[in-house]
Amino acid sequence: MSASTATAGEKPPHILVFPYPAQGHTLPLLDVTHQLACRNFTITIITTPKNLPTLSPLLSTHPQIQTLTLNFPSHHLLPAGVENVKELGNAGNFPIMVALSKLYDPIIQWFRSHSNPPVALISDSFLGWTMHLANDMQIPRFVFWCTGAFLASVLDHCWNHLETVKSLDVVDFVDLPRTPSFKAEHLPSVIQLYRDSDPDWRIVQEGMVANSLSYGYIFNSFDAVDSEYFGFLKRKMGHERVYGVGPLCLLGPDHSSRGNPDLNSIAHVFDWLNGCPDGSVLYVSFGSQKLMSKRQMEALASGLEKSMARFIWVVKTGTTQQMGNGYGVVPDGFEERVAGRGIVMRGWAPQAMLLSHRAIGGFLSHCGWNSVQEAIANGVLILAWPMEADQFVNERLLVDYLGVAVRVCMGADSVPDSEELGKVIGESMNGVVREQEKMRAKELKSKAIEGVKNGGKSLGDLDALVNEIMQIRRQKRLI
Ligand code: UDP
Repeated sequence: MSASTATAGEKPPHILVFPYPAQGHTLPLLDVTHQLACRNFTITIITTPKNLPTLSPLLSTHPQIQTLTLNFPSHHLLPAGVENVKELGNAGNFPIMVALSKLYDPIIQWFRSHSNPPVALISDSFLGWTMHLANDMQIPRFVFWCTGAFLASVLDHCWNHLETVKSLDVVDFVDLPRTPSFKAEHLPSVIQLYRDSDPDWRIVQEGMVANSLSYGYIFNSFDAVDSEYFGFLKRKMGHERVYGVGPLCLLGPDHSSRGNPDLNSIAHVFDWLNGCPDGSVLYVSFGSQKLMSKRQMEALASGLEKSMARFIWVVKTGTTQQMGNGYGVVPDGFEERVAGRGIVMRGWAPQAMLLSHRAIGGFLSHCGWNSVQEAIANGVLILAWPMEADQFVNERLLVDYLGVAVRVCMGADSVPDSEELGKVIGESMNGVVREQEKMRAKELKSKAIEGVKNGGKSLGDLDALVNEIMQIRRQKRLI
């Protein structure tokens, strides 16, 4: 156990954790929570009834963790019963962010009536309004970024210069290390969707701007990936409380339980992988939200077929109506034609567990940040197809700055040329091309693993975070 554990007789601090209800946001914050629970912290997690099951693996590992389960507030853009972005896709972020801000009063009431109230709040960056909540509770807030520091730096600039940014076709980030430029359509989706005329959007903007006033930043990223941007943010905020504790998939409780997959029903996938040579299988998945159109499904299936590479393709299926229009529908006869060489998995796959299998050597990915971290943690070559949200920013870092990925397609509605796609996949998986990228991916994996060992930088940052919270409790420091 780390040096940061409470000393004998010292009561462990109570902290409040507030994850944002999207798989990609919640899972890594639960990994941080797991680490804090291992250090005997008293923890309360804020959730809503339908999001409780996502917490169950963590709660069964740490029965002492409490939950504060509040009813999900309504919003006119949210269908009744929807409590998680995964049910709506990326477009669900806006109404969910706004709806959750209505939990301010119930949380304050809970806090004020608690006999041992929390000494600090850790909340997701999409819950920026909790900065004001923390001020009201007179406790420091640590903002959790499920993304990297490069993206946080880009976003910080965008939210603080919204009018200018929204007026440009190409935005130059001249203050940032490497002075990146992005086309307007490649900026994070929340920036593109922002509408000044809608008061609900101003709630979101105020929250995003308030993030930079947080007492500390916690990132699911690490030095070898983001050190320039950690440094940039430290200089910008004028303090050192920027913690790069990733890749969090290496610090979580157990990969197999993420997202509660039914492991019995997919035992055949692992049996098949066990018989494949090292690094020979391409893993294809586009995160927890993206539903592919009929044309995309066809092009992808055709590309995989032509590549002659081994693969696992995780297909997100839609509603009956969506599937009726071909969304998420695998072309007829495809699975029979690739039998023995490729497997289609429908629904939720234990991604982190699969990526850690020695047979997986490539990952065709939308470059969602968690997928990126999981690929990096396993030294897997990324074939990048960024689509929306933060994915273009992530892809820039992976392809152009870190050199661990190959660009294969761009855009949420793009349909790749199946000949070209098949060629890139085939060359990357079967041939001797992309050796540089593969080597760099392996080097980055080594650095990721070093970082979470005793004496490593990510574990050091986690200990520094723990120490800071212990200090806050000791001094009852107020902000
Ligand atoms: N995930 C998974 N199984 C799936 C789909 C997604 O385990 O079938 C996990 C994946 O490992 C990652 C997260 O869900 O931890 C998705 O986050 P990411 O940031 O990659 O993409 P998003 O879903 O936010 O677009």
